[in-house]
Amino acid sequence: MKILVLNCGSSSLKYQFIDMINEKVLAKGLCERIGLEASGIKHEGRKKIEKEIIMEDHKDAISSVIEAILDKEHGVIENINEVSAIGHRVVHGGEKFSESVVITNEIYNAIKECSELAPLHNPPNLMGIDACNTIMPNIPQVAVFDTAFHQSIPEYSYLYAIPLKYYEKYKIRRYGFHGTSHKYVSNRVCEITNKNIKDLKIITAHLGNGCSICAIDGGNSIDTSMGFTPLEGLIMGTRSGDLDPAIVSFIATKENISTKEVEDILNKKSGVFGLSNVSSDFRDLEDAASKGNKNAEIALKAFFYRVAKYIGSYVASLNGVDIIVFTAGLGENSAFARESILSYLSYLGISINTENNNTRGKEIKISTDESKVDVYVIPTNEELVIARDTYELCK
Ligand code: ADP
Repeated sequence: MKILVLNCGSSSLKYQFIDMINEKVLAKGLCERIGLEASGIKHEGRKKIEKEIIMEDHKDAISSVIEAILDKEHGVIENINEVSAIGHRVVHGGEKFSESVVITNEIYNAIKECSELAPLHNPPNLMGIDACNTIMPNIPQVAVFDTAFHQSIPEYSYLYAIPLKYYEKYKIRRYGFHGTSHKYVSNRVCEITNKNIKDLKIITAHLGNGCSICAIDGGNSIDTSMGFTPLEGLIMGTRSGDLDPAIVSFIATKENISTKEVEDILNKKSGVFGLSNVSSDFRDLEDAASKGNKNAEIALKAFFYRVAKYIGSYVASLNGVDIIVFTAGLGENSAFARESILSYLSYLGISINTENNNTRGKEIKISTDESKVDVYVIPTNEELVIARDTYELCK
């Protein structure tokens, strides 16, 4: 069975085409600038291709993907019917979805209802589903939700301390995101260490452009740092993470802008970018800091400190911790980031194996054998989780 995994953003589409016999990625790529000028596809299959194609919408983009995997010269299949099923990353499943589902009309409408909670993300996910319905109406589609893994978070932890009626009326609560990634790396670390997840307390740190931490008890998410939206929690590339909510109306009044505009600033102009005035990319920041840029140094320090603070608080949530896992762009690649974060946690009896920590992008234990807590780097693989769930539901 071969599964097409799609991750549709507002103007981009990432895809992987995976053979489930051996979980081999046959082709993968990215369509960019959909609906804008100079749209195009970067495709890696039997050959790497990069070309500009006019893509007015997601239907055009998905047609280009299908064309690339069917290409007579460098394609990986001969007939569209070799695509057995399509797995979509869907950002918000609200309280309705605690696991992946086959998309029916009813499910489609339920995803649409959740759009209010993720206005930037769910609509493009739905556009991808619509496009597949038009292009490949007979191929089953599955929705895999970023929020689903966190539906096990208990009420006392997901409720905000605001009048309960706002939860009852508008469903304002912690949902959490990056669930597919937290689920994958927590399961994977158990797989490679031959341990039973049911017996473990794990803290996973997904540190990429978006960043979140998750406390996992016996395989269940019991808390996570992103909340009602992906703005809460850690400091991120351009997102502020936690702040005093009174700051929103204070800035709005002082700058004579709407609260919506302040929210935009908190999403797009804050985080390490806002603090440093250098970049949202951690490579640029590490580079600038090493050359003596004080703002970059402070932005990184604030970022590391916040991560360590969250790990500390989740040790309390879990009443202990057996394994800490780092993943995503920064978590997988930056020895400096991991070392800086872990330097706050020596009270937990953590000690680092410097040589192992100085590697990047591979599965490795970075704590010493004497360390009281095991610390691992596990590269995330959200596409594989989507493919596996799709396979399980459609085989
Ligand atoms: P996304 O959340 O968009 O999926 P990624 O998981 O790809 O993001 O992470 C992107 C982030 O990872 C960027 O800020 C990038 O700077 C950072 N990153 C990637 N490689 C390195 C590296 N070698 N050193 C430091 N940061 C890195």
